[in-house]
Amino acid sequence: MTFQDLNLNTPLYNALDDLGFTVPTPIQAEAFNVVSSGKDMVGIAQTGTGKTFAYMLPILKNLKFSTQETPRILILVPTRELVVQVVEEIEKLAKYINVRVLGVYGGTNINTQKQAIADGLDIMVATPGRFYDLALSRVLQLKNIQRLVIDEVDVMLDLGFRHQLINIFDILPERRQNIMFSATMTHDVDEMISEFFKSPERVSIAVSGTPLENILQSRYNVPNFYTKVNLLSHLLKDTDTFNKVLIFIGYKKLADLLFENLEKHFHDECCVIHSNKTQNYRLRSIEQFRNGDNRVLVATDVMARGLDIDNISHVINFDTPDYPENYMHRIGRTGRAEREGSSILFSTDKELESLEKIENLMNMTIPVIPFPEDVNISDELIEEERLVIKERNNPIKKDETIGPAYHEKKDKNKKENLGGSYKFKIAEKYKKPKTRGDKNYNKRNKKK
Ligand code: AMP
Repeated sequence: MTFQDLNLNTPLYNALDDLGFTVPTPIQAEAFNVVSSGKDMVGIAQTGTGKTFAYMLPILKNLKFSTQETPRILILVPTRELVVQVVEEIEKLAKYINVRVLGVYGGTNINTQKQAIADGLDIMVATPGRFYDLALSRVLQLKNIQRLVIDEVDVMLDLGFRHQLINIFDILPERRQNIMFSATMTHDVDEMISEFFKSPERVSIAVSGTPLENILQSRYNVPNFYTKVNLLSHLLKDTDTFNKVLIFIGYKKLADLLFENLEKHFHDECCVIHSNKTQNYRLRSIEQFRNGDNRVLVATDVMARGLDIDNISHVINFDTPDYPENYMHRIGRTGRAEREGSSILFSTDKELESLEKIENLMNMTIPVIPFPEDVNISDELIEEERLVIKERNNPIKKDETIGPAYHEKKDKNKKENLGGSYKFKIAEKYKKPKTRGDKNYNKRNKKK
């Protein structure tokens, strides 16, 4: 496929020529028609795949020249750096188009931005907080916004922008197209899609299910969090083998808990990154891990994907990711540049379903290593593990000798399962079908 197949216009072709781009990247080819169609879209793509042009090409192609002053396109991104970057990309692509682009973000003088808005614009690129402040100040009129793009929504939700996004959805015109990009699928992202998007079309570049051959994969069955800590500590004692270890864990809170526990045994050898840590802290952690001052880095999926670190000896999946793509991204951090790398996966019984999805994607079974005898099995449970256990093994439900549960239903609420016939009973009683389209009711009555 070439850009000619997308039926763009001369100004766009000229800009692409200047940039030296000749073929659309896969995400650009996939997203073009969906974005053009006006349907809601969710794109799964990482930075570097050309995702900015994936939404900007169809948007710019369809944006008519206008002298109106209020924005028609809103692009929300998580950080100020990304605002600057996206604005630059749009300006390159819109070099021969008469379009006004404005980037706004917090931590800078809001009055200058208000003035720029008053001068008129077509496309606004913003961080959520500053956008909301500007909208509340009423300088920014939203009624003409037709398309909303949320870029890096996984990072946004990870940074705690959920409420701010919901507030923004509330004040935007209802008739609009929602376009969202995320690099990693997470439960937060999934939830947001189903809550706020209208049957969005999903566009993704399929993650290869074929892991690199030079990554040696294995796994352990481990009953709970603290036993995982014990096993990990046992493994990390072998400093020669485990010389640069990236540990993945899905949740920030658990990343902190794991880090605290590791620090007890491996003081000054570990560092941690997730979105609740300050930018400086994160940069310092990454640098210490990169240059070998720290042997172990604990990271969440979303934060770790921007990492570009070579020579990682082991990736340890402290939990089993529920989205198999995340597992592929995780293990791809080792075995780079033809070097041998190892990935070790810890899975509890509860995580076996996720394991199955991963193994299906790769079409292989990850070999199991027997649990080492000299590692202590802990029966201490973390809060998350306790909650589930309570629900599953509720002794009151199981043990009938205890008598009726305290919340047994009152007689009037004890309804037998009447199946479909209940509807007919009601219909007969009231002498009319319950719904207008209830053809079976009429048939049934004719037979009588
Ligand atoms: P992004 O994923 O949007 O951050 O883009 C990554 C880089 O790829 C940017 O520097 C883009 O300018 C560049 N790029 C975007 N589309 C193409 C293309 N079709 N061919 C070559 N490079 C591209």
